[in-house]
Amino acid sequence: MVDDIPSNVHVLSRILKDDYDIYFATDGEKALDLVQARMPDLVLLDIMMPGMDGFEVCRRIKGDPATHDIPVIFISAKSEVEDETRGLEVGAIDFITKPISPPIVKARVRNHLLLKRQTDLLRSLSFLDGLTGIANRRRFDDTMTREWRRCARSHLPLSLIILDVDHFKAYNDQYGHQSGDECLRIVAEVLSERARRPSDLVARYGGEEFVCLLPETDGAGATDVAEGFRAAVAQRRIPHAQSPVARHVTISLGVASVIPSAESGPDRLAEMADQLLYRAKRAGRNRVQGATVPAL
Ligand code: GH3
Ligand code: MG
Ligand code: MG
Repeated sequence: MVDDIPSNVHVLSRILKDDYDIYFATDGEKALDLVQARMPDLVLLDIMMPGMDGFEVCRRIKGDPATHDIPVIFISAKSEVEDETRGLEVGAIDFITKPISPPIVKARVRNHLLLKRQTDLLRSLSFLDGLTGIANRRRFDDTMTREWRRCARSHLPLSLIILDVDHFKAYNDQYGHQSGDECLRIVAEVLSERARRPSDLVARYGGEEFVCLLPETDGAGATDVAEGFRAAVAQRRIPHAQSPVARHVTISLGVASVIPSAESGPDRLAEMADQLLYRAKRAGRNRVQGATVPAL
């Protein structure tokens, strides 16, 4: 809640305090700090305030990618059509005029919070793989672009592991598609358990292929991680009677490392890792094939 008049804040919080956690600010600057610090689900914002007015506060909340998705409702005594229009134009989701009616405020706040919850849920689901519950390709592509730039700026290495289940077609043929799905879930779980650093990202790349992005990790470190993946999957001893490689499910892995440069993008790194995976397959599967590239 943002309002320069404390008694207005008081009236509003009496209506809502039993149902929600409330924080309040009495000017625009403090409101922006509070939004950054608390990441609220909803902002109730007065328009007329000394210093920075509500329109400007809203414009800044909406202009910052970190807070852009927080819904803002204007609560204002300004009730001209132009004010309401301007409020909606700067990104507010709703406009309530003072004097307020408690049941209407309650109902609108509830509706907007329900919408916010659904939007948050959909957004988080859109970055997850439906079968395994780990990150999906879209999330991987986003993160890869971001980490490429970050590592280029700080001259740190970036490594990528691409891995693929060996003879998985034969696995499906032998045990059925349901068991194949279950096998992919187990592989995803094993990989996630072993990629430990907060910046490591394991994702399903598609089909029976997975990727692991390792920022600030050089070729030797990434090869260790890959070898750990290989051993951990083999140790699960998932029976695979039709595999010419072993009596259980195995994976092959390609590992490429580079210190990214700002002039190029991450595509070549993925291509390299993919070629190395292919070499691991041809060399007999159930193995890691790595390379450190001087520059891309
Ligand atoms: P290789 O050792 O060379 O990788 O042989 P492979 O049989 O694993 O490779 P191939 O690309 O011939 O077959 C991949 C198989 O993975 C075929 C496809 O049906 C199966 N597959 C891909 N996605 C899924 C999935 O989501 N669930 C299941 N059960 N199978 C999948
Ligand atoms: Mg395969
Ligand atoms: Mg494949």
